[in-house]
Amino acid sequence: MKKHNYSAGPCILPQEVFQEASEAIKDFNGSGLSILEISHRSKDFVDVMEEARSLSLELLGLEGKGYKALFLQGGASLQFLMVAYNLLEKKAAYLNTGTWASKAIKEAKLFGDVDVVASSEDKNFSYIPKNYKIPADADYFHCTSNNTIFGTQMKKFPTTNLPMVCDMSSDIFSRELDFSKFSLIYAGAQKNMGPAGTTLVVIKEDILGEVERKIPSMLNYKVHLDKDSMFNTPAVYAVYVSMLTLRWLKAQGGISAIEEQNKKKAALIYSEIDINPLFNGYTAVEDRSIMNATFTLTKDSLKERFDSMWKEAGVNGLNGHRSVGGYRASMYNALPLESVQILVDIMGDLERKA
Ligand SMILES: *Cc1c(COP(=O)(O)O)cnc(C)c1O
Repeated sequence: MKKHNYSAGPCILPQEVFQEASEAIKDFNGSGLSILEISHRSKDFVDVMEEARSLSLELLGLEGKGYKALFLQGGASLQFLMVAYNLLEKKAAYLNTGTWASKAIKEAKLFGDVDVVASSEDKNFSYIPKNYKIPADADYFHCTSNNTIFGTQMKKFPTTNLPMVCDMSSDIFSRELDFSKFSLIYAGAQKNMGPAGTTLVVIKEDILGEVERKIPSMLNYKVHLDKDSMFNTPAVYAVYVSMLTLRWLKAQGGISAIEEQNKKKAALIYSEIDINPLFNGYTAVEDRSIMNATFTLTKDSLKERFDSMWKEAGVNGLNGHRSVGGYRASMYNALPLESVQILVDIMGDLERKA
């Protein structure tokens, strides 16, 4: 049975992408070779890398604006330290909105002073802090656009003259934003763009070269940029599948079209959470993520019944993260509206039968 996959990451990708990606393992572009056995320096793969990089900029509306895209390894977690290694001279400003933001702060502290401008830790990260001040003398401001674990999402970004750095791992390519407000965006592919193994980094080139320290080659954005994201062997297959997903997204009508779908899915589940007396939303209503909806049962005694109902219906990956408990419905770009309808129907059924 085909599952309704709510996995938080690695996550669902479009069926068409799985199809094409599996064919390329057997025979890539009719070459008689698998994509897994060709040189990353071959023209066929260089074309893939270049298409992935240019599609990223195109979909984000950043073409011709001084940005370059890289597909690196080490996950978003390596970006926590690469950002600071490359950009933090004296002091950086960070917004603490959850587990991932806290980890980014921890790494940045290895390189200089970190001014945590605001934190929502007091309420277990169930909201996004607002009205904080960003110090004008910081080297950059770092934030996390979508908090995958807690289910909050920044709807507005602060106005600042500092370079703005954003971890967009779990909502990149899901909604329209003025991406040119950001100087550096990074995202592990496995949340909304592709399989695990590669990380998209989009950089405005003019922010580099400001720090005094020596930077090891593999951790130096400039080295990767100079080598067109081919300084060492890239994650060939992960980049290829990401490229296919970006092609798919473009064919859907790009970010604006997928955003409409994503908003419909989110509206459907949140309205059920709000009207159904058996469920409570976890986060502040105005900060609800359209990607990860977190919720709890009002009666623990119903847990067993609810769990077996959704499992029987082929729903996968609905358990919440251990730091929140309850449930988390991750509704990334490739999750169809019908999958959300099925979950919502089960939630309604539970109420009728309880
Ligand atoms: C999953 C996630 C990360 C960590 O990504 P890795 O690729 O596993 O290092 C970082 N930030 C956010 C917002 C995430 O959702």
